[in-house]
Amino acid sequence: MYELTDVTDTMSDDAGAVLAPPSRGSDGRFVARPEGAPGGRRAERVGALARDVAGCLATSDVMSLEWRPAAACLGADPEIFFPERGQASDRAKAICLSCPVRIECLTWSVVTCERQGIWGGVAERTRRSLRRRLSTELSLARTA
Ligand code: SF4
Repeated sequence: MYELTDVTDTMSDDAGAVLAPPSRGSDGRFVARPEGAPGGRRAERVGALARDVAGCLATSDVMSLEWRPAAACLGADPEIFFPERGQASDRAKAICLSCPVRIECLTWSVVTCERQGIWGGVAERTRRSLRRRLSTELSLARTA
């Protein structure tokens, strides 16, 4: 388990407002923030995702893959999650947005530095930004 519990208290969005902590649904799973909300600015979305990932790292053992049987993509064509350059990823992202383990999946892909495909509804370009943001926030949390 990762010791990142302080991160959720120190992360803020780019507008300077402290983001609400990640919430859990009645089934105990994280409730992912909808893509594009709030505000719609990319940096804000990345900040919100970084906060969700930090919260997941602090409270879940994503490396156990216990979340995997609940994945919405089980049985889906894997190829849609690995589009070629220039191909649309809308179908994959739509499945991910309905997935009850979206944050666990995204967190796993960030921790394992997965460079290909759509994970948690997020493509590699955004995951790169997310890793940087997470790394910065974790450094700040450790030195605070
Ligand atoms: S978030 Fe997407 S890729 Fe990840 S387990 Fe769910 S459906 Fe599959």
